[in-house]
Amino acid sequence: MALRTYDTFDARKKDFVPVTEGKVGMYMCGMTVQDRPHMGHMLAFVCGDMIRRYLEYRGFEVSYIQNFTDVDDKIIAKAGAEGVDYKVIAERYTKEYFKYADLLNIKRATVHPKATEHIQDIIDLVKRLEDGGFAYAAGGDVYFEISKFSKYGRLSKMNIDELRAGARVEIAEHKRSPLDFALWKGAKEGEPSWESPWGNGRPGWAIECSVMSMKYLGDTVDFHGGGEDLIFPHHENEIAQAEAVTDKKFVNFWVHNGLLNLVGEKMSKSTGHFFAIEDIVREFDPDVIRFYLLSSHYRSPMEFSRERLAETRSALARMANTFRSVEAKIGDTEPDGSLEELGGPDLEFWKRVEAEERLFVEAMDDDFNSAGAIGHIFDIARDVNQHLKGPDSASKSLVLKRALDKIKELGDVLGIFRSIGGEILKLEDLPGEVKDLVGERVKARQAKDWATADSIRNQLAALGYFLEDRPEGTIVRRST
Ligand SMILES: [Zn+2]
Repeated sequence: MALRTYDTFDARKKDFVPVTEGKVGMYMCGMTVQDRPHMGHMLAFVCGDMIRRYLEYRGFEVSYIQNFTDVDDKIIAKAGAEGVDYKVIAERYTKEYFKYADLLNIKRATVHPKATEHIQDIIDLVKRLEDGGFAYAAGGDVYFEISKFSKYGRLSKMNIDELRAGARVEIAEHKRSPLDFALWKGAKEGEPSWESPWGNGRPGWAIECSVMSMKYLGDTVDFHGGGEDLIFPHHENEIAQAEAVTDKKFVNFWVHNGLLNLVGEKMSKSTGHFFAIEDIVREFDPDVIRFYLLSSHYRSPMEFSRERLAETRSALARMANTFRSVEAKIGDTEPDGSLEELGGPDLEFWKRVEAEERLFVEAMDDDFNSAGAIGHIFDIARDVNQHLKGPDSASKSLVLKRALDKIKELGDVLGIFRSIGGEILKLEDLPGEVKDLVGERVKARQAKDWATADSIRNQLAALGYFLEDRPEGTIVRRST
């Protein structure tokens, strides 16, 4: 069965056909590293990571590129306010991104390119656009002239006149038209700048993404992702910059996630609602947060809700209970026997597990429906719990173990059961650093210093070790 994916450009689901057989190139618009990542950022990156993991599960070799915009107006403004170099700000928030991405089980990209490391590539593309008659230099800036690119507005489904009326455009005296956008910005006093054919300056916002996508993934990329707030103008501009020089389709599938709403308001930089992930992980385990973010279809808008997060925590706890019940039933020994020799209720049970697995794949094949897919994993868990209560048989431990392995495997495709499914480790088998952290956390808990205890728990999670506080003591699991 074919994988079908919604493409924002064509506004419909299409069969996925890769540019190169067996391979996928995916570009994800990364953070402007000007502040702490918030839940809205992480929703986009978790969705991108889920899509990548599923494509890998389907056997594709995925090259995943996610950039950092490490120079821009806001970074420069913050650096000015703190009296530090802009690089200090960019590096601080790049580190913050990785810290929370690791906690949320978001895999590292194949490459995380930075704008400032691609200045020459950016200048080269701007020059090609100028030479091709799509861009003009004016007053030290260089602008893309959108009237020269007839396809402008196709992604956002707006016509140029509407855009002109509705766009929040920068006022610049040198522009020929208000919608023309800056590819290169002339240097202002005291700001970071690089030499260029147009004098000292720095890149405009969207140009780096066109450059990096083509540099790392070729002129046409399979997937390009980001929040739907990036459709206009960011992605519209990316298309113009790339297709004006290549005359090829820039992106085959535009995948845009719905935005996270907070009491009906869009959580974006502009509204001032700023739910730093740093604050949310103090209240909820990162595994719970990731699970919650994937429990709606990626294209649906999401309400931020503590109640929903708490419900997700309960669902994860129920799954953990299923894991424990099966572990208690089968003990430490690996059950022997073969699934080929099953009969009776064990065979019927195993057939149900296989049917649920097929439904999981069908859900994910239908535009990465993680919400539906999670439902099918929980159906397996429900069957496991029922089968546990049934009469014993020679192959019962074997089928239960295989079903548990299946739940872990499918959970791993979504990256959601990392904290509950891993092998339980004995304290003496832990690496020294991990053992020390576990010890410090025990002390912090005894002293009722919950902030320190939580911070250590997160440090351990980032290292791939998960704690479970049980009445008899804390147990440690290694990430699955
Ligand atoms: Zn971008």
